[in-house]
Amino acid sequence: MPAQNAQVLFPVNVDKPFDYEVPAGMELQPGEFVFAPIGKQFKLGVVFSLGAKGFDKELKFVAEKKPARALPPEMLNFISWTARYNCAPMGMVLRMVLSARKALDPSPEVTHFSPTGKPGLRITPARQLIMDKGGPFPARASEIAERASISAGVVRGFADIGGLRAEIRPVDGPFDIPDPDLSGLELSQSQKEGAAKLVEMVKRNQFATALLDGVTGSGKTEVYFEAAAQALRQNRQVLILVPEIALTQAGMKRFKARFGAEPAPWHSALGEAERRRVWREVAHGRAKLVVGARSALYLPFLNLGLIVVDEEHDTSFKQEEGVIYNARDMSVVRAKLSDASVILASATPSLESLVNARNGRYEHVVLPERPGAVTLPDIDLVDLKDHPPAKGDFISEPLIQSAKACLERGEQVMLYLNRRGYAPLIICRACGEKLKSPDTDSWLVEHRETGRAICHHTGFSMRMPKECPSCHSEDSLTSVGPGVERVAEEAGRHFPEAKIEILSSDTSGNPEKIRERMQRMEQGKIDILVGTQMVVKGHNFPGLTFVGVVDGDLSLVGGDPRAGERTFQTLVQVAGRAGRADKPGTALIQTHQPEHEALQALAMGDRERFIAAELGMRELLGLPPFGRLAAVIVSGPDQNKTQDLARKFTNLAPRAKGIEILGPSEPPIAKLRGRFRRRILVQADQSLDLSAYMAHWRSRIRPPSKYKVQIDIDPQSFM
Ligand code: ADP
Ligand code: ZN
Repeated sequence: MPAQNAQVLFPVNVDKPFDYEVPAGMELQPGEFVFAPIGKQFKLGVVFSLGAKGFDKELKFVAEKKPARALPPEMLNFISWTARYNCAPMGMVLRMVLSARKALDPSPEVTHFSPTGKPGLRITPARQLIMDKGGPFPARASEIAERASISAGVVRGFADIGGLRAEIRPVDGPFDIPDPDLSGLELSQSQKEGAAKLVEMVKRNQFATALLDGVTGSGKTEVYFEAAAQALRQNRQVLILVPEIALTQAGMKRFKARFGAEPAPWHSALGEAERRRVWREVAHGRAKLVVGARSALYLPFLNLGLIVVDEEHDTSFKQEEGVIYNARDMSVVRAKLSDASVILASATPSLESLVNARNGRYEHVVLPERPGAVTLPDIDLVDLKDHPPAKGDFISEPLIQSAKACLERGEQVMLYLNRRGYAPLIICRACGEKLKSPDTDSWLVEHRETGRAICHHTGFSMRMPKECPSCHSEDSLTSVGPGVERVAEEAGRHFPEAKIEILSSDTSGNPEKIRERMQRMEQGKIDILVGTQMVVKGHNFPGLTFVGVVDGDLSLVGGDPRAGERTFQTLVQVAGRAGRADKPGTALIQTHQPEHEALQALAMGDRERFIAAELGMRELLGLPPFGRLAAVIVSGPDQNKTQDLARKFTNLAPRAKGIEILGPSEPPIAKLRGRFRRRILVQADQSLDLSAYMAHWRSRIRPPSKYKVQIDIDPQSFM
């Protein structure tokens, strides 16, 4: 038999697999894990393909095969696809996939003990404690010891004489198997129709995508649960992607109620042991239902049948660091490679998805109303020119009056402002100095709760200075503009009796505290909740009937072509928090631009009008979804050299029809963590293979060390 080569991909910054010779007697399949020499080391890699032996090269040998389950072929395809589409190094995509390397080994084991009830043993007081307080059994010696307040030695001793039975179990236990046939809520007519369409789609076992387009509170979750149940019945795995901060206990409980089992969770805060467990169970096809943040898409599913992207418009599905990709778009690719279905769910779908639904590429499932008698909130605008807040304040009279009426009815108020801290800017009254981050082009934000000045881009923080760092005047620093802390302070002056709390990612810096606060809001223990983006995602506050938006204005900074769309989406979602139970809700939006298309559409409850206007504008300008965008970010430690590199790279752009190149220009954050930055924007016709074009262009330059040229396909951030 002729010797074979194996092409092995390593999880490092490389563009492609490397060739190795397979030693005689070693049988390899694509997807298997091997160790092979690279440089002076032996590294773990994945066999990507196998081919005949080349003639002219002396190849090194694959050293060893690792006894672990191979990655399935569609996972290998998905790695190639992701790398190609996003102009990312293949090895770095593999590295994302191998996010829990310990999962390749069998689970560690641990001994569990349970009482035997054997008669005639001497029961000392400590042993009696084991029986009385050590349960529930079976349990580890350390758990029993802790509960019974004795030493683990006593537990083992009792086992030695036959009082406890020892049993070796894997540490990484299996997940409970979800039951698709438990009954959920009684669905409304439109929910039933929607669910039926989705179930049909899943039944076909073919690639298909549906847009589940339902107003806030229409019960989209209940509807896609039916599709998930169908996939489970077909013995296929289900992945539900949610924005990271939506992975709450309340959310998990809904799964438990519908499927009798909690799903396997996946997010950035998971501990190492839990990551290892989820990865292995997913890889073996035993974890049937996974709920996760975007990176869950790169788990090695064995038999994936359905992906749901909940809140598909959400920008947190875009990963902005390392491999830059959009999990929503890559979900569609992943499903295609596995003959699976995708459901994109949102109350405010992205224009890209809407256009795909309208031209028939996606199935369009619409839920036009909330179940039962619940109505959508009434939205009104407050023109800040007509109703300026008192000097130094940020809440106008109409907001105060509406909040007052709401509180008098015994209902809850939410004030929304997407700005953390007390004030976004600290300025010296004596010399005009603005407090800046030392290594980044951004203002420091004042946080009164912690008494610090913080850079929101890098996390840099320092104690609020007593004097101006520039002119050393004392007590000259003043806070400019509102953050949630300041709005809460102002609300406290208007409503001294009210229980007011803040909800932002700063909330005592820990998810437990945030959850607690959300729960108190749910239980009606908070009168006024002042919140950032944090409060928007999928939470139900039954007593909340009034939402006041402190700053509804469109921030067009940075030239984001989706600024209008984002504003519209956020405000619909925020207003949608009001009036979920049987009480009608209202929302007031403070603005300086009440005439703006997005705000007018909101006030009239006319989504169609906004979409039509926005699509018209995008088509005229050739912007997505009618054209394509890519961004290039050039960065490095020296300002002039970064600018030169950016110019040089721009000049190297291959000539092609249907391409327009803008820049290089200075982005809003021209310096980040000590690195200077320049942006180039590339606009392309729809028909052009923009990924191939960008990869070709990128290959024309090798930046000097410490300098980077990064490609961002379909940029969502314009910082
Ligand atoms: P969406 O994701 O569309 O905003 P959810 O799925 O979170 O909506 O549902 C909103 C609320 O309505 C939840 O509290 C949910 O339990 C409830 N709900 C949804 N469908 C029904 C139904 N058919 N009957 C009763 N309550 C429902
Ligand atoms: Zn000063």
